Amino acid sequence: MKRVGVIGGGQLAWMMGDAAQKLGVELIVQTPSKFDPAVAIAQDTVFAAIDDAKATEILAQKSDVITFENEFVDLDALSLLANQGVCFRPRLEALSPLLDKYHQRCYLRDLGLPVPQFFAVDDVENLASQLEALSFPVVLKSRRHGYDGQGTFIIQDLASLQQKLAQIANQSQFLIEEFIPFERELAVIAARSVNGEVVIYPVVETQQEQQVCRRVIAPADITLNQIEQSQAIAHTLLNSLEAVGVFGIELFLTKDGQVLVNEIAPRTHNSGHFSIDACETSQFAQHLRAVCGLPLGNPSLHCPMAIMVNLLGYENSESDYQTQRQQLAAIPQATVHWYNKTASRPGRKLGHVTVLLDEYNPAAANNLAHALESIWYPS
Ligand code: ADP
Repeated sequence: MKRVGVIGGGQLAWMMGDAAQKLGVELIVQTPSKFDPAVAIAQDTVFAAIDDAKATEILAQKSDVITFENEFVDLDALSLLANQGVCFRPRLEALSPLLDKYHQRCYLRDLGLPVPQFFAVDDVENLASQLEALSFPVVLKSRRHGYDGQGTFIIQDLASLQQKLAQIANQSQFLIEEFIPFERELAVIAARSVNGEVVIYPVVETQQEQQVCRRVIAPADITLNQIEQSQAIAHTLLNSLEAVGVFGIELFLTKDGQVLVNEIAPRTHNSGHFSIDACETSQFAQHLRAVCGLPLGNPSLHCPMAIMVNLLGYENSESDYQTQRQQLAAIPQATVHWYNKTASRPGRKLGHVTVLLDEYNPAAANNLAHALESIWYPS
């Protein structure tokens, strides 16, 4: 497999560019705008919306295999292409239980994986009694198309929930779940090959603010048992889905040391960006290896520790933030990855910086992550 079609042209596809070049793989991207980051590294681009399956038919003519950097696709329409022999990796059946958060939770629960308690809002008859049984806060989530906390609302009491539900035109597109007063949030990247081999990256700690990932500490400072719980979840999930490619798994570590699944991304993930600079095989190289039918690479860290800080937009601007980027890049063992987006908006992921550490020191890693942020964000 030499020509990989990628549905989506954002930074996740852009970061496949280097890996593709090293593997001798061509990337052909389907993305709506010529300003999207991956257009610059793609051999060819089909300009169309992510969910435009007619465009994916054209992408398929140019590619040996099609993969995803964005899962908000039209699965029903793509399945017609799959029936005509188009090769999707991961296969569409591995995506279909995941695209709706309610279906995803049901799938994970039915696999016996630990998840927060949840229910769909469409069951109006049961809603009143279920609401009475809830203890607050709860989390109201949009079932589809949520990302970076869009469509996730933490609700403190019954009156606020009823008020919020009354504002929502189509309640059936929401689910409600218990709020987990987590000790920390974790994530793990795992990859599965065409032959069913599974490799798992070091479990990391992710730190969110306003539901958006700000910092990642690799590896997470957790017990062996917690690492094993996380790895077991990854194995069970990828094998059950017969997934091919990289998957990102977001986890909650509860105060009593249990690991629960929050969310699955059927693609490379922000929590795995540290792997570009800190691991033997980056998540992007790994994903391409898997979808091209190659043996998987070594996911280990080649340094004792690494941190990754997202460079999130904090204003509306067209600045390229040269000064801050240079200051960040001047930090020893730091690499700045700048996605070359044309405009900054609050919360938009503009880039990230990874710093490798020479010793395993979680407290120092945390402090350094905050120090990087104080360079990036205006005080
Ligand atoms: P998205 O798909 O937008 O990333 P998530 O469901 O992952 O949304 O939620 C984003 C963040 O919101 C999580 O990382 C976590 O900090 C918080 N969150 C989500 N669900 C819960 C929950 N059930 N309990 C506590 N916090 C939650």
